[in-house]
Amino acid sequence: MEIHFLGTGSAYPGAKRDNTSLCLTGVSSQILIDVSGNPCLKLKQINIDLGNLDAVILTHFHIDHIYGLPSLLWGMWLENRKKPLTIYCDYRNETKLNHWLDTMEADQWAIKFPIIIKTFNGNIKENLFTKGDFKISCFPALHSVPTIGLEFMYHNKRIIYSGDSEINSHIQAYSHIDILIHEATFARKNVPNHASLRQITDFYDLDTIKNVYLVHLSDNEPYEEELNRLGMRHKIKIAEDMEHISVKNNILQG
Ligand SMILES: [Zn+2]
Ligand SMILES: [Zn+2]
Repeated sequence: MEIHFLGTGSAYPGAKRDNTSLCLTGVSSQILIDVSGNPCLKLKQINIDLGNLDAVILTHFHIDHIYGLPSLLWGMWLENRKKPLTIYCDYRNETKLNHWLDTMEADQWAIKFPIIIKTFNGNIKENLFTKGDFKISCFPALHSVPTIGLEFMYHNKRIIYSGDSEINSHIQAYSHIDILIHEATFARKNVPNHASLRQITDFYDLDTIKNVYLVHLSDNEPYEEELNRLGMRHKIKIAEDMEHISVKNNILQG
């Protein structure tokens, strides 16, 4: 299984990072987690066929996590996709999503693939998707609007994703995490609805977490200095756009 960082930036406009989204690819499934800038370009760069992507999971309805959706659907239509596409969203956002699709007049593009909207209740832990080598479930995250974190199980590996959220006791409760992908909008500051690198190292027991990858990063934050101060470079990595993790060996490859 590969985890591709399609974007690693926070909502603050950045010069080097697109807004945070991930693509998971396994033997049997390809899942996009949130949709930021130019998704078709990025999926092509990682050799994902727009006709084959299985699903999109929207963690929450802040613009930096959803604005690429029209472009994704438009590209899929132009490439004559036939396979159904499932979009997962919180039940509280279903009406907004349908209004948005209506505003785009997606039903008039002669799209030949069904768009299936599946809702979840982001207030509780819920299984979203099981197929072959993937099992994905969601759990409540702490943010200013309904937001989920995600647990990916791949064979016996547990990957936890919290892409835009405060530090979270749900994550703290895990006895073992192979890879934690966590937002760090700031390096040191404590700000409501978000996390900092310092909070991650203060709050979570890093002895129970093999590797941490930081996403939702802001320009000009002193991440490097903080990592040096903490002496945590062996465990905590700053993710970069278009890098990926191979879960088999947990090696980050550019
Ligand atoms: Zn965000
Ligand atoms: Zn947000």
